[in-house]
Amino acid sequence: MNPQQQALLRRLPGVDYVLDLWEKNYPITSVPRPVVVQSIRDVLDKLRSKILAADETLDDILFSDSELLRLTKEAVDKKTGFNLKRVVNATGVVIHTNLGRSLLPKKVARHVAEISSMYSNLEFDLEKGERGSRYSAIEEILCELSGAEAAMVVNNNAGAVFLSLETLARGKEVIVSRGELVEIGGSFRIPDVMARSNAKLVEVGATNRTHPADYERAISDETALLLKVHTSNYAIVGFTAEVCLKDLVALGRKYHLPVMKDLGSGNFVDFSKYGLIQEPTVQETVASGADVVTFSGDKMLGGPQAGIIVGRKDVVERIKKNPINRALRIDKMTLAAMEATLHIYRDEVKALSEIPTLQMLTISVKEIAKKARRLRNRLKKLGSKRLDIGLVDSSSRVGGGSLPLQELPTKCVSVKMRGLSASKMECLMREASPPVVGRIEDDLVVIDLRTVQDDDFTIIVNTFKEILKHE
Ligand SMILES: *Cc1c(COP(=O)(O)O)cnc(C)c1O
Repeated sequence: MNPQQQALLRRLPGVDYVLDLWEKNYPITSVPRPVVVQSIRDVLDKLRSKILAADETLDDILFSDSELLRLTKEAVDKKTGFNLKRVVNATGVVIHTNLGRSLLPKKVARHVAEISSMYSNLEFDLEKGERGSRYSAIEEILCELSGAEAAMVVNNNAGAVFLSLETLARGKEVIVSRGELVEIGGSFRIPDVMARSNAKLVEVGATNRTHPADYERAISDETALLLKVHTSNYAIVGFTAEVCLKDLVALGRKYHLPVMKDLGSGNFVDFSKYGLIQEPTVQETVASGADVVTFSGDKMLGGPQAGIIVGRKDVVERIKKNPINRALRIDKMTLAAMEATLHIYRDEVKALSEIPTLQMLTISVKEIAKKARRLRNRLKKLGSKRLDIGLVDSSSRVGGGSLPLQELPTKCVSVKMRGLSASKMECLMREASPPVVGRIEDDLVVIDLRTVQDDDFTIIVNTFKEILKHE
């Protein structure tokens, strides 16, 4: 420490001094005193580190009352604000796992708010006046939509796969094609889940080609299950062959073995009707004869985070009775959200317009372009000569490890600001309140209108108004 630094440290005020300043400036506030005191300590600690790190004189302003107050206010605001907050998704990735995956329809969110703040018949049979089952609320509609005999729901699809394997194949063998040993982001890997469920993985075939005879040769007294996994986030192309679910089911019947399909991103709507790549629906998968089908609640389905298990009654009953089920059970908010979302699926037209994930996946480029022009015009109204606003053609993504090969043509608003690099602007947008998360393309910040919601427009305009104050 040099003498200069020593002198500066001596100029740092004590906590009491700053607290006194605070109380004079904010005589009436709802912020608890310990929060203010801790914030002041944090501010002073940071200033101390700054002094010790600097090798030249620091600006006098740092020690002014007004600067101390400003820093304290900033620290208090940060502490009292929520860490988990809404953001504007301007990335164009529809099922963005890092940004919360699926948005619940507004009326579903209202139902969740009511159920979570009121008593409910969560596990109470109102007809009999006795204890009921938590899952009865959604089993019927899941069966109605999927055509399955029975259904249940757990925390997420990873849980659904784990619970199904643990129930049906613990200590026994499960046969899977080498081409389907998927890894999903966040370290969910089929071989690892298999190991944790105490099922023994028997890989068959080659990475690009697997034939019925490969499965058949691997069947032994130790076999408990034949498993097919949807290759959600990758594609094997070229010289390929896979055994379709129907053929695997026929093999299962021949050897009296259950067949399971992990669909990953399950959907009740055939998206190929709306121009997307064809994926098997849940109904088709059940109709193919799979004994167990598992899928996510918050991928292409557009509901809450959940793992759905549908299938043959006796098989699903066994899974329900597994004591581990209790550790994976969904709470009432998820249950409320799931039931309300599933109701919308009874009318496909409504589902496409009311479930945001479906709406964003099927919206036309023309509609997106209309939104883009609207945003561009609003940004132009800011009247700044520093802003250079344009429209660019680009491509959005489905995300969530679904339809990796799907191109989704889109329209973006590009923004350039004189004196500000694209990466600096992207950073300022991200740090705004609420944050706006965009992407950088060809050294331009672009806002992909596919994932921008109607009530995001004003937020985006205000964000740029703030950024314009930046030198
Ligand atoms: C996404 C996915 C999972 C995991 O689902 P979560 O709901 O994220 O737990 C499992 N299997 C496949 C094939 C998937 O695509």
